[in-house]
Amino acid sequence: LTERLQNAIGKLRRKGKVSEADVKEVMREIRLALLESDVNFKVVKDFVKTVRTRAVGAEVLESLTPAQQIVKIVNEELVKVMGEEATPLNKSPKIPTVIMMVGLQGAGKTTTAGKLANRLKTEQNARPLMIAADIYRPAAIDQLKTVGQEIDVPVFELGTEVDPVEIVRQGMELAKEKKNDYVLIDTAGRLQIDEKLMDELVQIKELATPDEILLTVDAMTGQNAVEVAQGFNDQLDVTGVVLTKLDGDTRGGAALSIRAVTGKPIKFIGQGEKMTALDVFYPDRMASRILGMGDMLTLIEKAQKDFDEKKAEELADKMRENSFDFNDFLDQMEQVQNMGPIEDIMKMIPGMANNPALKNIKVDPKDMEHTKAIVYSMTPQEREDPDILNPSRRRRIAAGSGRPIQEVNRMIKQFKQMRDMMQKMSKGNFSGMEGLLGD
Ligand code: GDP
Ligand code: MG
Repeated sequence: LTERLQNAIGKLRRKGKVSEADVKEVMREIRLALLESDVNFKVVKDFVKTVRTRAVGAEVLESLTPAQQIVKIVNEELVKVMGEEATPLNKSPKIPTVIMMVGLQGAGKTTTAGKLANRLKTEQNARPLMIAADIYRPAAIDQLKTVGQEIDVPVFELGTEVDPVEIVRQGMELAKEKKNDYVLIDTAGRLQIDEKLMDELVQIKELATPDEILLTVDAMTGQNAVEVAQGFNDQLDVTGVVLTKLDGDTRGGAALSIRAVTGKPIKFIGQGEKMTALDVFYPDRMASRILGMGDMLTLIEKAQKDFDEKKAEELADKMRENSFDFNDFLDQMEQVQNMGPIEDIMKMIPGMANNPALKNIKVDPKDMEHTKAIVYSMTPQEREDPDILNPSRRRRIAAGSGRPIQEVNRMIKQFKQMRDMMQKMSKGNFSGMEGLLGD
């Protein structure tokens, strides 16, 4: 019975590859979804290439269709491109931490300066000072003052007649005197990038040496946002991006493009006009949003989790029964190769997640290929019952796999050690593991 079962599973596994046709069809949809989300054309092109390479031949999880599998890969790659993790604000070791807001007119600099100050105040009990350095529109200073009143944060201003660089200089002095821990500089914008504005911003940057230059970009401007971001970054070497107006029906493709083109992390997103409408940017959430496939991704996550749990349970059973054989061993190795580092696989095994001995495991992919070759040269009976591997069988296996007999012996010995170790572990005895793994 077990043999038939194994054969059936083996066939399934062989069938469970994503074909090129599968990939082509799904990638067309993905490409459209990205372009519709305003992701820059060139960024889409590069991205699709990466995903295609990864998707062809990827092993399919039992509970996923090839299409879902590709979406999963797309999602993972999107998250990767956007930086994996949330990136926190830079902080100066010495107060004040200086944050300079830059961006086009109407992008949301003034509003975001207020939102940030409010956030720092409520989260860290900070005492920020905001500096009004946009002197070109009289209303801009009033706007910042209104914001300041609303969130109860002081605003330093010298009207519209003093040079912005001088305003910043005096504002910084005041902040040092009053021991403000944060300074937020609200600068002027233009409808387009122009030289005069950039000169002014560069001067402010040189004077204030900000810890954080936050480029504020209106997510609704779509494709245009990429050029703007590139322009500002070239001249000012910004440290981060805030994407505003994501409360509209925009899908957020600008996030992907901007990150891909500038390489700078998106730190926050604005999702409304209120002072509380500023959220930390999470690449995984944005990936779901860009794909517009939130539900599908939840489903995929669940399938992945069930799959992992099932595998881990099966393995735990085998470990307890001491029936772990070379077929399981092959399975494990294939999983390792398909799913990433062995550390991660081992962590799926109950009771292994926090084991310090795991830190030392490293597997060379070439060794794994050799080991696999040796196992492939065994008969089904030998794989299921490694104890029958006598010297003559070992010589045959060595010849069949093209590996030296010493290597075959060593591999079998290691396998048996591993099996014994697994049985011990499943009974809660972890002693002796370090020595074995460090080998
Ligand atoms: P600035 O010229 O860059 O300083 O831009 P402002 O801060 O004055 O913002 C321009 C307009 O966009 C204002 O009406 C803001 O209320 C609005 N705004 C800014 N951020 C957001 C946001 O995240 N969502 C929405 N809906 N409106 C925003
Ligand atoms: Mg403004």
